[in-house]
Amino acid sequence: MKNLSGKVALVTGAGSGIGRATAVALAEQGARVAVTDIDPASAALTAEFIREQGGDALDRVLDVTDTDSIRQSMDEIRATMGLPAVLVNNAGIAVAGYFQDCSQESWERVVAINLMGVVHCSRALVPQMIASGQPGHVVNIASILGHVGIQGVSAYCMTKFGVVGFSESLRAELAQYRIGVSTICPGMIRTEIVRSGVLESSEDDLQTRRQAVETLFEKRNYPPERVARAIVKAIRRNRGVVPVAPEAWVGYYLKRISPWLVYRVARMVRA
Ligand code: NAD
Repeated sequence: MKNLSGKVALVTGAGSGIGRATAVALAEQGARVAVTDIDPASAALTAEFIREQGGDALDRVLDVTDTDSIRQSMDEIRATMGLPAVLVNNAGIAVAGYFQDCSQESWERVVAINLMGVVHCSRALVPQMIASGQPGHVVNIASILGHVGIQGVSAYCMTKFGVVGFSESLRAELAQYRIGVSTICPGMIRTEIVRSGVLESSEDDLQTRRQAVETLFEKRNYPPERVARAIVKAIRRNRGVVPVAPEAWVGYYLKRISPWLVYRVARMVRA
């Protein structure tokens, strides 16, 4: 989809981080943006910022784990703005901890948000996009941990590997309808994800561990706006898999060139 001007774009989890930056970047391209998030206050702030910049945005509460919430928000968005031509499945949480420490609740929550949230939102919108006969685009935010499995994040990796496979299949299926699908693998991006994520451990002091990971992300200092730019480019050029930060490119290619080496590194590195 070369020209985003006037197109309706729906972004999930757009109250913070990559989702917020993506909503702003799409609005800068002239898209009319439906800013959705489980947190109404943060969605409202993103939409307000876009409007202050002269863009067109509305905000709605949308919990990607709740099919009623999805249906209701999408009905309201369609009635107010028209049918979205772009869907950005961004909402996600981090869950970290060794397999034996990860609680049943965390497994269910991360699958419900990171994996089934993508499926529910796609199921709610893609059939209508097909029926409209218009070109469209679906962006799924995966992770380099959807290609490479390291220690201490088996639950998160499982969801992101799932998103990568889902997206690859959907891309092949929707091409005939002129609907593109892009899978984004950001890298280590400076957002709220570590602070708000779940961390479980029977060995470490949780506060020290969380602080160490937060410091790592802060030092890396890769801004979500750069991911947003890559997302806009992916939509315009209909790119398939898009690693963004250098570490994502390295992981992506290393896995292809030398899976053995990746395994050796994965045994040394933990999230
Ligand atoms: P973030 O915590 O800054 O933003 C996530 C947003 O999702 C928040 O606004 C939150 O309220 C929302 N959200 C959470 N649960 C929701 C639900 N059930 N329904 C709707 N919205 C919900 O995190 P971020 O880093 O911007 O993450 C965005 C996406 O990028 C996630 O899918 C994440 O897995 C992925 N990602 C992030 C990084 C990174 O380093 N930050 C790396 C790779 C992938």
